[in-house]
Amino acid sequence: MVAGNWKMNTTPAEGLELAKAVAAGRGSVSQDVKVVVAPPFTHLSEVVKATRGTGVSVAAQNCAEHAKGAYTGEVSAQMIASLGVEYVILGHSERRQYYGETSEILARKMSQAFDNKLAPIFCVGESLDERESNRHESIVAEQLEVVLNLTPEQFARTVVAYEPVWAIGTGKTATSDQAQEMHAFIRKTLAAKFGSEAADNCTILYGGSANPGNARELFSKPDVDGGLIGGAALKAEDFLAVANSF
Ligand code: PEP
Repeated sequence: MVAGNWKMNTTPAEGLELAKAVAAGRGSVSQDVKVVVAPPFTHLSEVVKATRGTGVSVAAQNCAEHAKGAYTGEVSAQMIASLGVEYVILGHSERRQYYGETSEILARKMSQAFDNKLAPIFCVGESLDERESNRHESIVAEQLEVVLNLTPEQFARTVVAYEPVWAIGTGKTATSDQAQEMHAFIRKTLAAKFGSEAADNCTILYGGSANPGNARELFSKPDVDGGLIGGAALKAEDFLAVANSF
């Protein structure tokens, strides 16, 4: 899977153009690669319509932790799913860091996603300080608790994204060995709970300054099943080149 996280970028018109360009180029990408775009909420409806039947799936970047009600400014999983959106990114480090999203909040968001048949792309990853003090595995294990508390059926629908915070938007990519090491750790942790077959079937994405220049090396690693792409997802050509890097 290659998923493009557009973050808070593009106007609706620009986003529609980008989605159409990704859809137009999707034919050059192997059908074995799932291609996903995650535009801002305001673009979801138009992007779903523009990509329908093209082999490009759509994700939201977040959803509310509650089903509905007096939560000004929030967007529910039901609202998102009703547009034909398939995925929702949850637990992105920017949401954890700037909006105080804790594991408790994320567990509620995951429930909302499953209740509305959205498949979560659940992000984990350590900060630079946590890596330098050799706490990266324990931090990721702690963040993974939300996934470990899922039912086997829910887990089967979950995509995990490993995104070291120090590599996001910094131009500093984890080496393919660092990525592989953490992905293997994540898979082992998942296998201990859900069994090795279910863990082997789980898609584990790498995210953090992945681009057409480094994606091939990252994707060559056995436990790296794809990428969650930020900056390089804002240009269709670059995003498609990443998707063509398997
Ligand atoms: C992201 O935010 O999910 C991401 C991976 O960003 P970038 O590719 O820009 O580092």
